[in-house]
Amino acid sequence: MDQQSLFNVEPQPWQLDDQDDWLIARMAFSGAPFGPYDYSIPADLEKSVQPGIRIEVPLGRGNRKMIGYCVDVIGPFHRLAPSVQPQKLKPIERIIDSRPLINSNLLDLANWISDYYLCPVGQVIETIVPPGVRNESGTREMLFLSLPDGLAVRLGTMKLSDVQRTILTTIGSSVQDWTPRELAETVGCTQGPISTLRKKGLIITTTKRVQQKTHEIPRETRMADLVLNAEQEVALRQITQHIEADTHQTFLMHGITGSGKTEVYIRAIQKVVEFGRQAIVLVPEISLTPQTRQRFRARFDRVAVLHSHLTASQRAWHWQQIAAGNVQVIVGARSAIFAPTPNLGLIVLDEEHDGSFKQDKAPRYHARDVADWRATNEGVPLVLGSATPSLETWQRAVEGRYQKLSLEKRVLDLPLPDVATIDMRVDFGGRKRFGPISQKLRQEIAQAISAGGQVILLLNRRGFSTRIQCPACGYVETCPDCSIPLTHHVEGSKAVCHYCDFQTPEPKRCTQCNNPSIRFSGIGTQRLEANVTALFPDVSIMRMDTDTMRKPGSHEKALNKFRSGETKILLGTQMIAKGLDFPNVTLVGVINADTALHLPDFRAAERTFGLVTQVAGRTGRGEKGGRVLVQTFDPEHKAIQAATRHDYLGFAKGELPHREEFHYPPFGFQARIVIRSEILAKAQYMADHIAEQITSAASLLESDVTLLGPATAPVEKLRGKFRYHMLLNSGNAGVIQKVVRRAQTTIKSIDDVQWIVDIDPQDML
Ligand code: ADP
Ligand code: ZN
Repeated sequence: MDQQSLFNVEPQPWQLDDQDDWLIARMAFSGAPFGPYDYSIPADLEKSVQPGIRIEVPLGRGNRKMIGYCVDVIGPFHRLAPSVQPQKLKPIERIIDSRPLINSNLLDLANWISDYYLCPVGQVIETIVPPGVRNESGTREMLFLSLPDGLAVRLGTMKLSDVQRTILTTIGSSVQDWTPRELAETVGCTQGPISTLRKKGLIITTTKRVQQKTHEIPRETRMADLVLNAEQEVALRQITQHIEADTHQTFLMHGITGSGKTEVYIRAIQKVVEFGRQAIVLVPEISLTPQTRQRFRARFDRVAVLHSHLTASQRAWHWQQIAAGNVQVIVGARSAIFAPTPNLGLIVLDEEHDGSFKQDKAPRYHARDVADWRATNEGVPLVLGSATPSLETWQRAVEGRYQKLSLEKRVLDLPLPDVATIDMRVDFGGRKRFGPISQKLRQEIAQAISAGGQVILLLNRRGFSTRIQCPACGYVETCPDCSIPLTHHVEGSKAVCHYCDFQTPEPKRCTQCNNPSIRFSGIGTQRLEANVTALFPDVSIMRMDTDTMRKPGSHEKALNKFRSGETKILLGTQMIAKGLDFPNVTLVGVINADTALHLPDFRAAERTFGLVTQVAGRTGRGEKGGRVLVQTFDPEHKAIQAATRHDYLGFAKGELPHREEFHYPPFGFQARIVIRSEILAKAQYMADHIAEQITSAASLLESDVTLLGPATAPVEKLRGKFRYHMLLNSGNAGVIQKVVRRAQTTIKSIDDVQWIVDIDPQDML
């Protein structure tokens, strides 16, 4: 320690006078009122209170007992606001946890998320700590027996029966505490003499929480390292430099599909593990396929895979193992960014462009930005990997804030597949009988199968028909709770709302005019499956979408069948577009590339480009090569054109100027406010009120926030509630948050109206 810092240290508690002997617990709650509020800590509890534990405190006038999180412990060595008088605070009531539920790094992270995403910190902590950890699921209270201090040495001189003496010496000769049952078994006695000794005070009991059962981490057979190609080597070296130097750097690893990105992650993580540290690997939920799991388990001894099918107690067990430092690599979806690693060494976020990294309920965090903050705070490298990076990440790399690593070739010099478009306006003229599959695509499927290859068909819409319409009056059957057309599902003969899951038997007559001939149109994956089956009756076909993949393990089963070659054609929604690596796939068909192209969202082109490029990347991964056919009504569209050329750079260059012109991300910052109410007029009134308060807060703070709206949201009604929304734009970071925080102090809530703020929104509907 140098001289300077010696004089700057704040006085420690033990250096202070008696009259300064007070401590404050700052408490935050997961429900309203969120706090934080300050409480005094009685002297006898001082040693037990630390940030990150839960404490019961009296709240409000009625002193209602509430459990909250201690987010800070404040003592005389902190400067307090003059209004705070520690002696006048209410004391805390009861301590819940003996050890912090979250460590100080995660508490820092929670505070940042709270500030940035405008979400109460108690609610953030509740998101970070899995419910199973909070209620200690998978554990139970057990009784343990031990000897009182000093008894062991007096045993020889005491008057005891033989069995009593054996019991006491057995306890005394062991370092571990005994349960009554273990003790009785070891000694060979009943509980009788043990109880007698407990009553006499010669055995003392303590209760402890113990794990009921463990969830062993399965291992795979070891796989040897591959020999990296030159590009992979270069990328790896840049990352390991920062691992060795123990410094933060965010990398964008832009590597085309099949360029061997995962292999580079694995090698970087090996370095991290050598240093005795842990790595977090985030992947989209859907990529938690057996393949990803196996690849990591084949290379590391202790891998925790966190996915949405874990039970609360399994999740809690993994969390405890991670916190204890027993896990080397954590592979998981979005929320794995909160893994309580004691000594983090690296974060990897694969498929960083994926929409599933943004949480759609509070806190509405984006795992990519949370990862960036966490990696910076803990001083470790972050690797963002993608073949089609989000333009936000791309622009940061262009500006030099992120370091770019490029993998421009596929491994083993495999070529990228040829991509051709099929203009559906031409190809479908008067030839309805082929259904959703054009003549050309049909021929190519037949060829691929007869040559021993396999086929992937993408249609990003589930259900059978996406439109149920009356030809007489034109009425489109719509969800009663949402302004969304119902989708016809033949399985179960029902009409389903894909937003709220409302279900009703398929209508036999128009619900408006009672006309008996209803038209089912628009193609979903169920109908595609029926069509493909009709066209290729002898070929085994499998459908993968959220309807067929509801059961845990169904993914694994389906993909194993495809890998073994038993299934020849795999068709489904975007869940088949990502991450799969099957060398025998020689044809990919995109049934309708335009499904998302014309949505009212400035990212529509980016998403379409990404999806088509990603699914195209599923082929050409083996010796037989591969081909992609993209059916579209808009073959000249820049997103489709760029995807056919595998041209990310071209797409980005064409798209970025539009973003810049309108100050959209990555050239500006956004927040979306959504107002909902069952009563239309109330929603509208509240939207206007909020807009006014935002405008006046912005002008008060002289900030450069522009307001678009309020207007009815594109999805006007959802789950029975009418929706209004507005967009806030700003050229500067953090300004929107300031303005909203200011406006919040003057916005008057009204009954039956909810409103939310979504920072960096991804969903514009
Ligand atoms: P990406 O994540 O970029 O799509 P992967 O890491 O999944 O690419 O690699 C694609 C395939 O190539 C995988 O089957 C992987 O095992 C293999 N592979 C990766 N690197 C090499 C290499 N250096 N030599 C041989 N095969 C490799
Ligand atoms: Zn609905």
